[in-house]
Amino acid sequence: MLKNESLREMTGWLFSWKMFLLILTIISSILICRPFCKYVCPLGAFYGLFQKFSFYHMEVDASRCDHCGACEKICPMGVEVTKNINSPECIRCGQCKSVCHTDAISAGFVLGCGGSCKTCKKEKEA
Ligand code: SF4
Ligand code: SF4
Repeated sequence: MLKNESLREMTGWLFSWKMFLLILTIISSILICRPFCKYVCPLGAFYGLFQKFSFYHMEVDASRCDHCGACEKICPMGVEVTKNINSPECIRCGQCKSVCHTDAISAGFVLGCGGSCKTCKKEKEA
């Protein structure tokens, strides 16, 4: 295809544009973790809007956290785990929880907290 000029003319600029996007996605995927999910995917951004209303919550117990930074280092979405673990960027992969050596991170379903859980209180204060 790349060598055949008549085929190239038939496919036009749209093909070249798509090839450019494909190569860009492949190269950025090698250099950055999940670039499409983080910066391009409109579905992820849309779902992120509902994170606030999710029944599945994660929490960091500040009294247990020694600020080692391991959770933020491993987070594939670059979430500031200790500051805003329920960020719209979070994909609930649980990697932060699994590396926390003090078990400061908890996760689970919260049904109808009525705004009384730590996460909701923090959001109100912010
Ligand atoms: S891994 Fe655990 S102890 Fe370390 S900063 Fe994160 S929450 Fe705190
Ligand atoms: S669950 Fe995954 S995406 Fe969410 S804060 Fe933890 S490591 Fe990051």
